Amino acid sequence: MMQAAFLSAYANTNSGYLYDDADGVGIFGFPAFSATGLVRHGFTARIGGVSTGPYTSLNMSFTRPGEPRENVMKNHRLFAKRAGIGWQSMVMDTFEHGVTVLEVDQSHCGMGYFRPSLPYCDGLVTKHAGVTLVTGHADCVPLYALDRKRRHIGLAHAGWKGTLGKIGCNMINMMRTRFGSDPTDLLAGVGPCICGDCFEVSEDLAARFMDAYPGVPLVSPGKPGKGYLDLAMASAAQFLESGIPPAQISLMHKCTYEDPTLLYSHRRDRGQTGGMSAFIQLLPPAKNAFMQLEAPLHQV
Ligand SMILES: [Zn+2]
Repeated sequence: MMQAAFLSAYANTNSGYLYDDADGVGIFGFPAFSATGLVRHGFTARIGGVSTGPYTSLNMSFTRPGEPRENVMKNHRLFAKRAGIGWQSMVMDTFEHGVTVLEVDQSHCGMGYFRPSLPYCDGLVTKHAGVTLVTGHADCVPLYALDRKRRHIGLAHAGWKGTLGKIGCNMINMMRTRFGSDPTDLLAGVGPCICGDCFEVSEDLAARFMDAYPGVPLVSPGKPGKGYLDLAMASAAQFLESGIPPAQISLMHKCTYEDPTLLYSHRRDRGQTGGMSAFIQLLPPAKNAFMQLEAPLHQV
C-alpha cells in the first residue's frame, strides 16, 4: 500500500472508547461493538480487585511471581460478574508470543482456569454464542473482530512478535476460511496498548517492521540506534490489508504506559506489574433485545 493511500484510510478509522467503572471494576469498550447488541466485550482496568503491591488490584495474570493463583481467580470472578458473563464460559489464550489462532467452542470453556490450558496460541475465534474468548495483556495489543452478519468473533494478543508476524491477518483469515466471513461485514477493534510515543525499540527491529509494513509510517525517530514503534497503527494496517473498510475499524488510542491508575504496563513498571484481560462473547440471538436495552435494536 502506498503511504498516501494508507494515511487516507487510517484517517477514516474510528477513535476513542467507552469506559465504565460501575461496581468499582473498570471496563473499556468500543462504541461500535456495543452498538451492535451482538456481543459483550471489553478490556479490564486494574481497579476493583483483591491483589496487592505491584499487582494492585485487578491482576488478571496467573503467571506473576509471588501472586497467589486464588487472588487471580477471585479477580476473574469479580470481572466476570461485573461484565455479566458466566466465568465458566471463559477460555484463555496461552501466550506463545506467536501468530497461532485456534478455533474454539463450548468444549473449550474453562481452559486456562479450572481446566488445563489450550495448546500454544495467541488468538481465538468462535462461532458459538456464550463462549467467552479471553486474552491477557500488559502493553501488548488486543485485537477484536466481529462478523455482524454471520455472527462470529475473534480475539488476539499481539506483542511486537505477533504484530511483526501479523496475527491480526491470521485471525481475519481464520474467520474467512472457517466461517465464511466477508471482511466487508466485519467490525474490528484495537484496544489499549503501549502507544507509538512510548514504545521504544532498537533500530534493527524498527527496520524489520518497515520491511513488513511498506507504506505504513509506523516508526518515528528516537535516540541514536533507537526508534518508536506504533503497534496500534500496525494493527490497523493488518485489518485494512485484510479488506475491512476503514469506517469499520475502531482504535481506542488508550496507552497502557501513560495511565498507571487504570492500566498495568510491563515496560513502565519494568516487569513488576499485573495484567489486564481482553474479552468478547457472542450473545444468543433471541436474547439480544432484552440484554442490550441501551443499544439500538435494529439487528433483531
Ligand atoms: Zn503512550
